[in-house]
Amino acid sequence: MNLNNIEIAFKIQSNRDLKNGRFLFTLIKRPFIVRTLGGMSNLALKIGFPVSWAVKPTLYRHFVGGETINECLPAVRKMWSEQVASILDYSVEAAENETDVAETMQEILRSIENAGQQDCVPFSVFKPTALVKSDVLKKASSGALTGNEMKAFDDFVQRVDTLCAAAEKSGKPIMIDAEDFWFQPAIDEVTERMMLKYNKNRAVVYATLQMYRHDRLDYLDRLIEMSKKENFIIGVKYVRGAYMEKERARAAAGSYLSPIYPTKQDTDKAFNEALRRSVENIDRMQVFCGTHNEESILKLTQYMKDKGLPNDYERICFSQLYGMSDNLSFNLAAEGYKVAKYLPYGKIRNVLPYLIRRAEENSAIAGQTTRELVMIKEELKRRHSK
Ligand SMILES: Cc1cc2nc3c(=O)[nH]c(=O)nc-3n(C[C@H](O)[C@H](O)[C@H](O)COP(=O)(O)OP(=O)(O)OC[C@H]3O[C@@H](n4cnc5c(N)ncnc54)[C@H](O)[C@@H]3O)c2cc1C
Repeated sequence: MNLNNIEIAFKIQSNRDLKNGRFLFTLIKRPFIVRTLGGMSNLALKIGFPVSWAVKPTLYRHFVGGETINECLPAVRKMWSEQVASILDYSVEAAENETDVAETMQEILRSIENAGQQDCVPFSVFKPTALVKSDVLKKASSGALTGNEMKAFDDFVQRVDTLCAAAEKSGKPIMIDAEDFWFQPAIDEVTERMMLKYNKNRAVVYATLQMYRHDRLDYLDRLIEMSKKENFIIGVKYVRGAYMEKERARAAAGSYLSPIYPTKQDTDKAFNEALRRSVENIDRMQVFCGTHNEESILKLTQYMKDKGLPNDYERICFSQLYGMSDNLSFNLAAEGYKVAKYLPYGKIRNVLPYLIRRAEENSAIAGQTTRELVMIKEELKRRHSK
């Protein structure tokens, strides 16, 4: 299968979109520029210096759908014209106070309702740290909650339950993003409770497994055993993991064993093995494969073929982030696979940390970024010569 047909990859993009992409990927390729811009943006955020004039027509336009669900609709419709669905991901940073949390809850509930009303939005999603102070999650994960914190944690569980119930009612599953290793034991426990409650006949709730963690294949096996015993369907989103540097630095500072595999090769192997085990157990699972790694995608399509599953098998969905690897998303969709892009939305100051992460990540994977840039340039040349 050819995932690099550029005409299919960029069909919905205007020349202006492509030129903006060319400009951004040329900048992002240079780690020094990304580090400087990242530092300047963090400072601007701290001192309240306006950055939207620079960010909105460039990074924001490329990687974000808009400030609200409505503003995302043109991007959602355009992608859907080529059978690529959207997952509206409300971007908000860690919860600071109760007012923030209440506003975030309302917005996530709106996004769940919106998913329920549109075929082109097959999932909803949320970040646990937007719903409770990260301190509470960290202490809950190490079993060290005090009186008030216990109440805060119970409130968090109640909020997650409210979102899962709303997702069940909407008819579309909800994914619980994974974040720092420190918080994950508490999030895993709550997610398991929700799967037991809501995933009786289909997966309403999806856990996220970061396969750069060396304990996650064992955890997957435990989930499979649990689902057999308790009779529920596992929903799982696989990603490699976005916080490697931070996790390693923390482990070194705290003198504990790093939770991350020592090499990229180990992570790749674990990611692909998780896909293999999932297809093997597909009668018990629904799978969401979140990656820009072409090799992993091709492996999953091969496992599906070997198992005799059709391309459009409804229990398996491929996903990339909006603004990245359109060659994979649009070529997979053209072959009939289920594809949905994560489409972040929100105010610039809330989305900025996400944008910096994307720029850093694209800078770190210079090979892939160069490939993306080459494809954009080729497509512009192809259009120009027509
Ligand atoms: C739809 C979608 C949803 C996502 N949701 C989440 C989420 O909920 N939580 C989250 O943490 N991330 C999330 N991510 C980001 C994801 O974890 C990765 O950071 C990102 O996708 C890059 O990995 P890749 O598989 O696309 O590409 P690749 O370029 O193949 O892999 C890069 C990744 O490999 C791993 N890696 C790199 N070098 C090493 C090394 N030396 N040793 C060990 N491992 C290494 C790191 O995880 C790095 O991010 C999401 C990504 C997508 C596409």
